[in-house]
Amino acid sequence: MSIAPPLYARPVREAASAAALTDDERSRILAKSAQFAPPSAVLPDGRRDLVGLSRAELTEILTEIGEKPFRTKQLWHWIYHQGATDFSRMSSIARPLQEKLAERFVVGRPQAATVQTSRDETRKFLFRFRDGQEAETVYIPDRREDRGAVCISSQVGCTLSCTFCHTGTQGLVRNLGAAEIVGQFMAARDSYGEWPSPKGETPRLLSTIVLMGMGEPLYNYENIAKAMKIIMDGEGIGLSRRRITLSTSGVIPMMDQCGEELGINLAISLHAVRDDLRDELVPLNRKYPIADLIAACRRYPAASNARRITFEYIMLRGVNDSEADARELVRLISGIPAKVNLIPFNPWPGSRFQPSTREQLDRFAAIVMDAGFASPIRMPRGRDILAACGQLRTESQRARRSSGAPGAENT
Ligand code: SAH
Ligand code: SF4
Repeated sequence: MSIAPPLYARPVREAASAAALTDDERSRILAKSAQFAPPSAVLPDGRRDLVGLSRAELTEILTEIGEKPFRTKQLWHWIYHQGATDFSRMSSIARPLQEKLAERFVVGRPQAATVQTSRDETRKFLFRFRDGQEAETVYIPDRREDRGAVCISSQVGCTLSCTFCHTGTQGLVRNLGAAEIVGQFMAARDSYGEWPSPKGETPRLLSTIVLMGMGEPLYNYENIAKAMKIIMDGEGIGLSRRRITLSTSGVIPMMDQCGEELGINLAISLHAVRDDLRDELVPLNRKYPIADLIAACRRYPAASNARRITFEYIMLRGVNDSEADARELVRLISGIPAKVNLIPFNPWPGSRFQPSTREQLDRFAAIVMDAGFASPIRMPRGRDILAACGQLRTESQRARRSSGAPGAENT
């Protein structure tokens, strides 16, 4: 066993002061995000989609057509608790009003362009939105219990270009709107028929949300926040903030706001413990280096022993998987309520990495575990259905380009 540090070893760069990450930086990120806004929620026939509106916006729209504010609660219940998409099913609303609503509004869902269920029961959806753009959603059932996680996309493509990630090869097309983000969850629910939303602690199949699909959620913060507020609303889908985890490659200025405003769990795509290697694997590191990222984790408001931060670490053979890396990882995160998720690299055509060997994975996991951190190895699921994030969309783009379909531009 070698104790020499790997050749690329260099100390982590000095942490900048937290104050240097100013409000200006946050405003700049939000302004840039607005340039990739989703298309209008109004259909070509003039009807407006009611999904994805906050309660206040829904009230405003109903007031505009002369309806009283109490209608908001009623509609909210039908849309998010009952899962109704058809106004004529909303039995607590009188027929004339049902008709009035149907003339002006719709309760939309993304269209499932592809649904594939793997031999291990993982179900992968490629959802197509109104403008023809597509994003992936995956349902990963728990092997032991009747529950599971829905992995939701936040953007079509991604501006960042992590070298191991297939989505990173696609560039960013646009942000997903709140309706499209909530819509992925609701459409996945439709597929399992799990309506009305189970209340409180009643077991649910779709019991957890991980914002780990295509895109960087903290580069689409406002739509994500709006969608999560709808999902966490006790009179709607009613999923606890404890059951929602947002994964970020490390957009530090938005992490504080996410913790304060949403209080959801955080997962950090760390993948390397030294800046020179992380600069290469996760290029955002050049802007927000490891020391700053770890400092932001230490002050993340929603973290506690009961609600640990997850550090995701993709195991790349001979690149970041040495025992020295494992020891440095443990040193970096010491004192943070954390667990480490070791992810075997999922190869895709043209990728330049190899997954670590099983032995190396086990050796790495043992070091992390000995230091007192849970370090589950995330077993690949749905291998038989193009499970590497972004692959399904690329396949669909290829097929649609050859048929000249709309929304199938070369990205
Ligand atoms: N942009 C966010 C969330 C989406 S990526 C982020 O980077 O955290 C979600 C996770 O998928 C990340 O941890 C990423 O490392 C992982 N991932 C991406 N490509 C992968 C691949 N080919 N094999 C295994 N995991 C991958
Ligand atoms: Fe974007 Fe996350 Fe993929 Fe990096 S790993 S390119 S941040 S989706």
